[in-house]
Amino acid sequence: MQELTHYINGAHVKGTSGRFANIYNPATGEVQATVPMANAAEMDQAVAIASKAQPAWASVNPQRRARVLMKFVDLLNRDMEKLAEALSREHGKTIPDAKGDVIRGLEVVEYCIGAPQLLKGEYTDSAGPGIDMYSMRQALGVTAGITPFNFPAMIPMWMFAPAIACGNAFILKPSERDPSVPLMLAELFEEAGLPKGILQVVNGDKEAVDAILHHDIIQSIGFVGSTPIAEYIYATGCAEGKRVQCFGGAKNHMIIMPDADMDQAADALLGAGYGAAGERCMAISVAVPVGDETADRLLAKLIPRVEALKVGPYTAGNDVDYGPVVSAAAKANIERLVQTGIDQGADLVVDGRNFNLQGYEDGFFVGAHLFDNVTKDMDIYKYEIFGPVLSTVRAKTYEEALGLAMDHEYGNGTAIFTRDGDTARDFANRVNVGMIGINVPIPVPLAYHTFGGWKKSVFGDLNQHGPDAFKFYTRTKTVTARWPSGMKDGGEFSIPIME
Ligand code: NAD
Repeated sequence: MQELTHYINGAHVKGTSGRFANIYNPATGEVQATVPMANAAEMDQAVAIASKAQPAWASVNPQRRARVLMKFVDLLNRDMEKLAEALSREHGKTIPDAKGDVIRGLEVVEYCIGAPQLLKGEYTDSAGPGIDMYSMRQALGVTAGITPFNFPAMIPMWMFAPAIACGNAFILKPSERDPSVPLMLAELFEEAGLPKGILQVVNGDKEAVDAILHHDIIQSIGFVGSTPIAEYIYATGCAEGKRVQCFGGAKNHMIIMPDADMDQAADALLGAGYGAAGERCMAISVAVPVGDETADRLLAKLIPRVEALKVGPYTAGNDVDYGPVVSAAAKANIERLVQTGIDQGADLVVDGRNFNLQGYEDGFFVGAHLFDNVTKDMDIYKYEIFGPVLSTVRAKTYEEALGLAMDHEYGNGTAIFTRDGDTARDFANRVNVGMIGINVPIPVPLAYHTFGGWKKSVFGDLNQHGPDAFKFYTRTKTVTARWPSGMKDGGEFSIPIME
């Protein structure tokens, strides 16, 4: 059995806490490796190393730091197949999806290569007689990130690429379910020229997270995961005086207007609802057709497509639309919620309950489910299922459909399918959700824009990647300087803050 490690000070380090978690192959249900769960002493060791290494990295000029990121991009491309295979083996997603996971992270690394430009400060010449004023962005010091299982390459890179480009050291606590790719990323970054101790991976669970939360030296915490944990980390981290940004769960609605192209809408729902087994925070989990006639036309197109979805292991290549879910517990939770949908009166129009894959009976596969006539009070509508289950809520009018997306406690992403520009514009302006798609089902902004939801999908004020990341990972310092020549005429200063 393979025993994974931590990655501390440029080396693979065995765990010393004596606690381990099992890493499963979700396609077979077999334990394929174990990963150590760090205790506070191990976290302390990593933080001490990071703290020692960080000042020298911060003093490397930003262009040279950017060159290390450039080389890292080359190495990610070189090892793309290897990374995707390792990712699929632990997560279960298909190889094209795994490559997408790496590529969307890589794009953020590419954006961060612009650090020399993005970190430039501001300067006011002659703010008073002989007085100049300038501001600079300085690294925070030691920063940390806690990431979820569903994007083990992309989300760590969303955090550590800007943190490191800004001159910080970064400690990554990845998901304990699929830590291999995060470990590989840390090794690759060092191969690209990153000094030891600037990016470390400390594996673990709540104990390691609590050690981060209460560590004096750690300046900032980024978190992505479920909402209850996001709330806990935000509250605790803020109480400890840290800079914290936390991104939580989602329930993304897609509104289908009567004038939408129904083939396009059905295809969009198929990818956005069932791709990656629905384990995406930007997955569409609620379809809202406006009017019964629209609903009937949509479902007539959607049902045969959902029934034709191919579910299987990533090793089956292009024959598979989506793979298993991540764990037996996730599978059991999805099955439980599907049963509540039936018990509470929704119509299960595609029933994936008896899905069985020969030769993979112990894998965590879940067949595709489609519900019709779902209502607001049902558990399958209220809670994030994070599986291949799409709920159809029929709305009578556009206003009712908009109200559904507005009233839901989550506000990560939403989409509208229509040919009417006025309706699309009204929707984008009024809906209280962070990321909007117009005839685009998964509107994930590119690296040079920012990513973030509203309401219970986020805790904190700055978004991920794009310009916000450079604000999150730096502090502004403003210098006011005066020179003797400005004082020649008796030292009178015209700006009030001077005295
Ligand atoms: P999770 O909340 O179970 O775990 C996320 C991280 O928190 C992991 O590193 C885990 O080890 C740690 N953790 C778990 N329990 C903890 C506890 N009690 N105390 C401290 N730390 C704890 O989430 P997950 O199942 O890995 O990921 C799926 C969730 O992430 C979904 O809710 C999904 O919507 C969300 N997600 C959100 C975004 C976004 O940008 N909003 C992106 C991806 C995933």
